[in-house]
Amino acid sequence: MSTNPDSNPTNSTGPLTLTYYGHSAFQWQTEAGFKVLTDPYRNRSDRYWFTRQFPDVECDLGLITHAHFDHDAAERLPEGASLIRIPGEFANRDMQIRGVQDIHSGRSGLQGFVNIMFRLETGGISFLHLGDNRADWPGDVTRAIGEIDVLLVTVDDSNHLLQPEEVDSLIERLSPKIVVPMHYQIPGLMADDTGLEPPESWIATQPRVKRLVGESATFSAQELPSQTEVWVFQPSPASFTSPALERPDNL
Ligand SMILES: [Zn+2]
Repeated sequence: MSTNPDSNPTNSTGPLTLTYYGHSAFQWQTEAGFKVLTDPYRNRSDRYWFTRQFPDVECDLGLITHAHFDHDAAERLPEGASLIRIPGEFANRDMQIRGVQDIHSGRSGLQGFVNIMFRLETGGISFLHLGDNRADWPGDVTRAIGEIDVLLVTVDDSNHLLQPEEVDSLIERLSPKIVVPMHYQIPGLMADDTGLEPPESWIATQPRVKRLVGESATFSAQELPSQTEVWVFQPSPASFTSPALERPDNL
């Protein structure tokens, strides 16, 4: 955490910005300077996925979609940050958040494992962070989500969570203006044997793809594309320079 009394990041104003830290971790910075971070990652004693500690990221509020190690490093939030990991409505400054409870995809879902999708709305733009949710949710979940402009969706070529046709069906049902892939293999940041793959085969099927040169993008309600675009973020350099995590001898 910053200890410089002259820097109060929560009072800064600027464009609405989304920054990617790898896996499912994103930071929103609203026009009023409110910062929200989703799904910081960690390793588990029996799982070595991440080669680096989750970096220091400023935030006023952390959101955790579900209690799997690759999403729930609550201990990596700054000291003063709040944390939400339950469904419900929450508003602060120029950010409205709605947590919608559903079910994890795949095998965890068959056992009823809960996942919270977070809808974040600020500056006239609504985002949906899917967490690791299943794609075939019931109608009341659809109504709770409502309309969205930006979909952050799990996609990788191993189909670890969703099949490519499920991702496409989500895009068709939700009609977002922008789709942001997440939860895929990132060489250098993740071990080679996570089982995840990059999302390139799926990306190659998409008609409009924009590869961002950096880790951040700014958004304005007036400048959303008229046809759905896939935006591929580069993970923040901070994620690659964070302290290395040793692989345990037994893994
Ligand atoms: Zn996950």
